[in-house]
Amino acid sequence: MPIKEKYMARWPFLAATMLAAACTMNAADRQAGVAPPAQPSAGPALHGAAKVDAALLATGGDGSDWPAVGFSYLEQHYSPLTAINDGNVSQLGIAWSADLPDARGIEATPVVIDGVLYQSGPWSKVWAFDAVTGAKLWEFDPEVPKEKLVEACCDAVNRGVAVWKGKVYLGTLDGRLIALDATDGKQLWSTQTVDPAKPYSITGAPRVVKDMVIIGNGGAEFGVRGYVTAYDSTTGAKKWRFYTVPNPTGAADNEPSDAILKTAAASWSSGGAWKQSGGGGTVWDAIVYDPELDLLYLGVGNGSPWNYELRSEGKGDNLFLGSVVAIRPETGDYVWHYQETPQDNWDFTSTQPIVLATVTIGGQPRKVLLHAPKNGYVFVIDRTNGKLISADPFVEGINWASGYGPDGRPIFNPAAYYGAKDGKFFVGMPGAMGAHSWHPMAFSPKSGLLYIPANLAGLPYGPPSGNKDRTAMALGFNVGLDWGAGALPRDPNMIKAAIAATKGALIAWDPVARKEAWRIPYGTPWNGGALATAGNLLFQGSAVGNFQAFAADTGKPLFSLPVQSGVLAAPATYTVKGEQYIAFATSRGGVFALAPGKVGGAYNRVPNVPRLIVLKIGGKAQLPPLPASEPMVLNPPRSSGTKAQIASGLSLYSRYCSVCHGDSATSGGVNPDLRMSGLLGDAAAWKSVVIDGALRENGMVSFASVLSPSEAQSIRHYVIDQANWDKNVWQKAERAGGGGGN
Ligand code: CA
Repeated sequence: MPIKEKYMARWPFLAATMLAAACTMNAADRQAGVAPPAQPSAGPALHGAAKVDAALLATGGDGSDWPAVGFSYLEQHYSPLTAINDGNVSQLGIAWSADLPDARGIEATPVVIDGVLYQSGPWSKVWAFDAVTGAKLWEFDPEVPKEKLVEACCDAVNRGVAVWKGKVYLGTLDGRLIALDATDGKQLWSTQTVDPAKPYSITGAPRVVKDMVIIGNGGAEFGVRGYVTAYDSTTGAKKWRFYTVPNPTGAADNEPSDAILKTAAASWSSGGAWKQSGGGGTVWDAIVYDPELDLLYLGVGNGSPWNYELRSEGKGDNLFLGSVVAIRPETGDYVWHYQETPQDNWDFTSTQPIVLATVTIGGQPRKVLLHAPKNGYVFVIDRTNGKLISADPFVEGINWASGYGPDGRPIFNPAAYYGAKDGKFFVGMPGAMGAHSWHPMAFSPKSGLLYIPANLAGLPYGPPSGNKDRTAMALGFNVGLDWGAGALPRDPNMIKAAIAATKGALIAWDPVARKEAWRIPYGTPWNGGALATAGNLLFQGSAVGNFQAFAADTGKPLFSLPVQSGVLAAPATYTVKGEQYIAFATSRGGVFALAPGKVGGAYNRVPNVPRLIVLKIGGKAQLPPLPASEPMVLNPPRSSGTKAQIASGLSLYSRYCSVCHGDSATSGGVNPDLRMSGLLGDAAAWKSVVIDGALRENGMVSFASVLSPSEAQSIRHYVIDQANWDKNVWQKAERAGGGGGN
């Protein structure tokens, strides 16, 4: 069939209108779900980072500190402070700002204690600032080798530090867990938590429970087996490890997970690619301690490879992929699990932030876990036993499942099983970016609402074509998909439609009434994490450069400040000498700035300014002026490759290059845009980079283990050809109106 019809058939969601009008509900219904406000802890005599302990983290305290990335152990991203409130938030201004290095994604919420602010950033760097003046107190650079970038799916990001009894804990992109002295940033100990020969990475924040630092890892796109490990907070000595999927060799790990994994092994096939890949199930973000029940909840990631038929021969639920698992923190012993996405086939991680709350359901106070994983459903789970209370779609258009049955299992759409054998294609909604990714939600016990930074975007899941998609390769993504089949067609109208259909929303969800209370629609996905306060405020930065506040109960917009760059991270709030501050980072990055290419649309045009910004009422500081941006000029050599070279180059580019340099050779602005590479016209120089690794110290390693020199040249011919099409067709269509992007 003609190319346009072919892609219309594959992108049916493009035509769908995604956003419903914001609905409202009455205040009494919302109040029904309200838990009593947390009581401030007694407060030990210690000062600064030394005072952070279990008592402080149980409640987060009175709001003067922001002692953990999620505020308290409950990780509600909610502050009891009211000095800044819905009556005066419009008077917020900038108190200070501090420019940070590395124009990559900043995903960490700062931790603030007694007027010292701890911020982590790209390449696992950490800074301490005076929280009032912005004076830099110290910085720490773990000197992560840049070559590690090729083993990180989603940018060189870091989602924050943990502070405990005078130490700052950090996980590094190359798998180390490091303890720093909070007073001067000097390293106290460091331990390697992963096998450095395997493509593991750490981007998540450590959590500290009972003098143990708990850390997970990522890497399921490349081929690893997930686990979390507990280390002694004073010495760094390992205490226990909990593997989230069975050992493919069948051997015991001699870890506390052995007992349950013996049972879980029955949910995996006897053969399949998991035997080589390790199965995935990495715990790369949510690790949440429940101080009321003394349980540790792990949000477990996707399968490796993604493709269920390849991974597990299409057999079994594959525990504990896509699950929340509760374990005992002292021992690492299994307690319960709930699998949100059995048979994961779509990169539907359950690693998304977990919020603990007490809500009143049917007149009874219930200790619940609130979760909105990638798969598009918001779950209310009884955390005393892991039983599902409710599962409801929080975005429109979900097509992998039609809901959850009374047995707590999803009702699958058979068409969602794109085939390894039969070549079936599936356009999934949501896609692998998830209806919600790592961006922190907030829960306000006052409004009773859960605030979800949601994405509305699909993904064409192209079945594997040929051995390069089926067989694990030494380098790059090993997910069992043909990325070339899912690449955007060279059709300006289709590209504009894809951009227009890729949106976001801030969704205020009532977990008791099981419905949306209000919504802020956005033209792009990948908006920032949320912060709720007792001042009836909900703060969130947008992907396209505004920091905003809404009335937490109604969603009424109350404040918007242009901040030059995108906002990914969730804000924190704190007081010093009674004055309340709001702190957040700007930047562009993470997966949405890497893989989607032109679908990144307006987001691709937002400047990338890595910066910490702190606001207060009446703040008068100004941001430094934006540096002049260079106009993007495509001036490629004339296309000279054969049709076969260009077609082969598209397929190889899509498999090896697109996840970092963008679909259709279009960068989202974090990694270099290859269409503008000065090497395009020079075959020898191209080879020196792609095959010989001349730029390995910038993170661009040699691909000689997976590409022949002639394949590398095919990629060059494809990029030249794509750049010419973009210059001669796409950019003209873009200027002619509609759509957007680059
Ligand atoms: Ca993943």
